Amino acid sequence: MLKELFTKNTTKKKKYATIPTEAAKNDVPEGIMTKCPSCKTIMYTKELNKNLKVCLHCGHHFAMNAKERIVSFLDEGSFNEIDENMVSVNPLNFPDYLEKVEKDRQKTKINEAVVTGYGSVNGNNIVVAIMDSTFRMGSMGSVVGEKITRAIEKADEMSVPFIIFTASGGARMQEGVLSLMQMAKTSVALKRFSDNGGLIISIMTHPTTGGVSASFASLGDYNFAEPGALIGFAGRRVIEQSIREELPEDFQTAEFLLKHGQLDAIISRPELIDKITNLLEIHQPGGELEW
Ligand SMILES: [Zn+2]
Repeated sequence: MLKELFTKNTTKKKKYATIPTEAAKNDVPEGIMTKCPSCKTIMYTKELNKNLKVCLHCGHHFAMNAKERIVSFLDEGSFNEIDENMVSVNPLNFPDYLEKVEKDRQKTKINEAVVTGYGSVNGNNIVVAIMDSTFRMGSMGSVVGEKITRAIEKADEMSVPFIIFTASGGARMQEGVLSLMQMAKTSVALKRFSDNGGLIISIMTHPTTGGVSASFASLGDYNFAEPGALIGFAGRRVIEQSIREELPEDFQTAEFLLKHGQLDAIISRPELIDKITNLLEIHQPGGELEW
């Protein structure tokens, strides 16, 4: 009897206390519910999407892909995509590059990290370029640079404003210097367009970094950002190491850049259409500002 008592426990499966990992704590059934990474509130994905992917509790702006942006920003049915079939080659024979691009193409159903085209916002014709951070982290290779350049030239040809939504991890390393050259190419195209009287509006979304922040993202007549967006050239740690100083907590956020004169305004998504419409209209003959 006594013996049994002692053996009983050993045959029983050991019970371990489970400590949820950070990842598990954030694990919310995908699809139906979404957890806000900022305030941790769990909400219906449907409601969140209805609210332009802005958290209903704290206003956190969730990333929007190019397609969602087109639907939410442009007049219904007005968008005509251009250069949609332009695809990357592998100029440096970088290992697995084309396979990675192909994988992202399958995943995102777009051919590159930027979607360009023309359409209208409240009846105002524009050309728009929308970067998509879900495709190769929105990195800028030759195709991204070329598509943006062509979009700027299209705006010039149509004599309509050019609006760009940026979201990028920077230049695409697999295309080496060819990626970096896109900074110069897009900048020259913007300068030409500007000299011809074209209006350029840049809206930086989270994250806009590296060569993209250092070229077309910052070259608008108006440079705006979404709340909380990370915007910067080099990463925080790299800067801290090179200047040997600790950087402020909000460094490289849209709010910090606005305070320091690098941005013209921060515009939240729900007010974006109205503000941009107003801007587009004041740049028409006889327009008036109602900011
Ligand atoms: Zn929130």
